[in-house]
Amino acid sequence: MKIVFIGPPGSGKGTQARMLAEKLGIPFISAGDIIRGEIAMMTELGGKAERYVKNGELVPDKVIIDMLLANLPQFFVLEGFPRNIPQAILLEKIKPDYVFYLYLENPDIIQRISKRKVCLNCKMVYNLSSNPPKTSNICDICGSKLTSRVDDTKGTIKKRIDVYENESYPLIDYYRKRERLIEIDGSGSIEEVHDRIMQAVKGIRT
Ligand code: AMP
Repeated sequence: MKIVFIGPPGSGKGTQARMLAEKLGIPFISAGDIIRGEIAMMTELGGKAERYVKNGELVPDKVIIDMLLANLPQFFVLEGFPRNIPQAILLEKIKPDYVFYLYLENPDIIQRISKRKVCLNCKMVYNLSSNPPKTSNICDICGSKLTSRVDDTKGTIKKRIDVYENESYPLIDYYRKRERLIEIDGSGSIEEVHDRIMQAVKGIRT
């Protein structure tokens, strides 16, 4: 199966896509993780992407496409791509089977992002209120130190919500019209949202 997750920043799409990929036993791919990896490794593509990520803007399509599309496996759960209609049109070559849309209100988005901590080593994501690490500031999985993302600052969060509303929101209609959209309430705990997704997956399979 080829599954894509879309939704506003902070909607939990990375966390949920990773959990679903584990359940289905297929690769999890995060566009944001790939970009952050390229930036950390100081590659040429990373160098081109860095200032956009820091400003909360979308990286130019050409850059993200070069990083991502060349290496997609046959089956996957992908999050963070597409982020606009031109990217969705490109993804049609691969034709995702289902697109999960996690929706969440802006106050919840801001609250979640401001409490987010990430592990740059294994990419695990934590929330200091709802999903804290067992030891303060240390990743449960790999023991590395946790940090905040460079784009999880107050000003950048606002910018990212604007970018989402202007550039990514039209994707909802695009996939609704193609009858591939599965709309999931992204509010509540990680487990509650995961249960909603699994219910929807059961519906697909029966
Ligand atoms: P995320 O981890 O999905 O919140 O993405 C973090 C940042 O990476 C975004 O704010 C963009 O700057 C960049 N990014 C991630 N995915 C894409 C994409 N599909 N197209 C363009 N930029 C992206």
